Amino acid sequence: MRRISIFGATGSIGQSTIDLIARDPETYHVVALSGGRNVAQLAEDARKLNAEIAVTAEVARLSELRERLAGSGVEAAAGEAALIEAARRPADWVMSAIVGAAGLPPGLAALEQGATLALANKESMVCAGPLVMQTARAHGGAVLPVDSEHSAVFQALIGEDIAAVERVIITASGGAFRDWPLEKLAGATPEEAATHPNWDMGQRITIDSASMFNKALEVIETKEFFDIDPALIEVLVHPESMIHALVGFRDGALMAHVGPPDMRHAIGFALHYPERKTLPVARLDLVKLGQFTFRNACETRWPALRLAREVMAAGGLAGAVFNAAKERALDAFIARRIGFLRMAEVVEETLNRVSAQSGLITAGITLDNVRAADHFARVTADEIITQD
Ligand code: NDP
Ligand code: MG
Repeated sequence: MRRISIFGATGSIGQSTIDLIARDPETYHVVALSGGRNVAQLAEDARKLNAEIAVTAEVARLSELRERLAGSGVEAAAGEAALIEAARRPADWVMSAIVGAAGLPPGLAALEQGATLALANKESMVCAGPLVMQTARAHGGAVLPVDSEHSAVFQALIGEDIAAVERVIITASGGAFRDWPLEKLAGATPEEAATHPNWDMGQRITIDSASMFNKALEVIETKEFFDIDPALIEVLVHPESMIHALVGFRDGALMAHVGPPDMRHAIGFALHYPERKTLPVARLDLVKLGQFTFRNACETRWPALRLAREVMAAGGLAGAVFNAAKERALDAFIARRIGFLRMAEVVEETLNRVSAQSGLITAGITLDNVRAADHFARVTADEIITQD
């Protein structure tokens, strides 16, 4: 049996992963499941899948988790150290689907025990891409992309020579405000930003899609995952969300990955890789779809895309600072403390202030240094937000 763990099991990606695993109970032994606030879902799935251990990130919810698991034989635990411990339990395949920088430590722990890491948590790559890849190499594990664009690039590159790649285009739906006039954006509310035209995802990534911070993180993730020169990475708005990425080669060929906006494709691809197995995703009727359209992704409308380029040029821990500042700006937007357009300004100002501190960005990419940069960026972003 294949031993599987799912971190962020109660979220959108986690639930889609469980949907696939639960269809084939004879094949999988579930080692660990993790969640945050939603201990009811966590306990229900841990019972259903007969997991060894269920971990909530929230220490205050441990007693509720214990009660819900009473008599099931599933162990209960809570807190960050427990998450890392659970990730150290031997498993063959581990899904990293916690949202935010909190996903990095359990992902590294899973790689350290030699697991294959299916990486939905793009923040791991943005904060510490070289560390993630080097940890995988050092322990004989592998990292497989789950983000749909990166899964698409990965699939387009199978059997290809990376040196023959001329361009990598990742697509963006444009999010909730794609067609809003620029002057309306300042007054956009969290509820308006949290509706996505095509994908059904967690609240945070949906708002990040409207601001293009999601795409900004993905551009950096592309660079880190495939070790691609940032100058070769392009973003195009593709409102239909059917083509997830295109890879251009030096002979002029463009390989496009087409599929319905259903994350169970990318999750299932990573689950069964290197094989392709039947997956429960819709088959596209191309005639009905009729056409695929593309537009340029304007950096005035979406300054997050410009910031991503600056972060890649700065290198080092700039990604960790960028992500942490983005997380705090997003928290403040959700709490209605700052407006929609202010998020990018807070992130830019945080990057400027932290970069001015000598040595912070240029320190080596270790987990301790990532944590320090992340912490300093959060404090700085909070200061900027409080001044508003
Ligand atoms: P959700 O918000 O739906 O789920 C997040 C998961 O993380 C939940 O299990 C949540 O627990 C848990 N969690 C939240 N905060 C913490 C924390 N501080 N420590 C530990 N666990 C925590 O997110 P998504 O599933 O949408 O996204 C997960 C990751 O996958 C993100 O990195 C996202 O960018 C990426 N991704 C998602 C896609 C999608 O289609 N949804 C597509 C591509 C990438 P609880 O809910 O119980 O509080
Ligand atoms: Mg994506």
